Amino acid sequence: MEAYEKIHRLHELIETRTVADLPGPYKVGVDLGTADVVLVVTDETGNPVAGSMRWASVVKDGLVVDFRGAMVIVEELKAEVEELMGVTLEKGATAIPPGTVGRNAMACGHVIAGAGLEPVCQVDEPVAAAEALGITHGIVVDIGGGTTGIAVLRNGELVFTADEPTGGTHVSLVLAGAYKISFEEAELLKRDPAQHRKIMPVILPVVEKMATVVKNMLIGYEEFSDYPVYVVGGTAYLQGFETEFGKAFGRKVHVPPHPLLVTPLGIAMFG
Ligand code: ATP
Repeated sequence: MEAYEKIHRLHELIETRTVADLPGPYKVGVDLGTADVVLVVTDETGNPVAGSMRWASVVKDGLVVDFRGAMVIVEELKAEVEELMGVTLEKGATAIPPGTVGRNAMACGHVIAGAGLEPVCQVDEPVAAAEALGITHGIVVDIGGGTTGIAVLRNGELVFTADEPTGGTHVSLVLAGAYKISFEEAELLKRDPAQHRKIMPVILPVVEKMATVVKNMLIGYEEFSDYPVYVVGGTAYLQGFETEFGKAFGRKVHVPPHPLLVTPLGIAMFG
């Protein structure tokens, strides 16, 4: 299966709460994000088998702030997928924003262990995204809820990573201020594609700021200037995002289908 086909398939499996009829052994990945928690199961070759997600606020700027809440959600997602698949999931991979160190870096592993999944691997989020996209050469930008991370790959080797605390949360904060609504209402407004044309002028400065953040991360790395750029993460769902981000970044960028599911799919591939 091609990378984009896998992403479409995972989306379909999550939406329809169904399971792909593929034989084990299976790999599991858990993405503990600022805005959501996603659990994905793939077969040995990375084809999606099942998945489940929940909107949640158990992580802030890439750090687990509600350990117990995160554990309960992973337990629920695991139970849901196990029931659909009729198997017990025993181990899984997690991911963290690049540069997360010490106890913060260990928290995701502890969360999934508490939920009954033995942690087998922890990768940088944009590295997981690159794996899902099947990229061995290029720049992957992962704009999640709280963080913007990048990974640069050259001939299959990871040569640069960076992370900054900016993401979709900042978009929602700007919307909340502009429309005088709560953060939660702003999140819903932002996730409604029918509103995207209306809100783009309001949030354009945030999108431009994100592009500037990524541009600044790459200062001094002119050798990457002709690398293809892929932008993943839920924020890239915004209609017009690809064009506006590309304009401010000064380079053409590619947004894959269902950008929120790319990193979770890639994490499972490391499971
Ligand atoms: P992080 O990696 O920063 O910890 P995360 O893993 O939660 O965060 P993602 O799941 O990639 O990040 O993306 C979540 C962000 O995407 C949230 O800010 C959410 O509001 C936004 N988002 C999700 N769906 C949409 C949509 N349809 N349109 C616009 N934004 C969206």
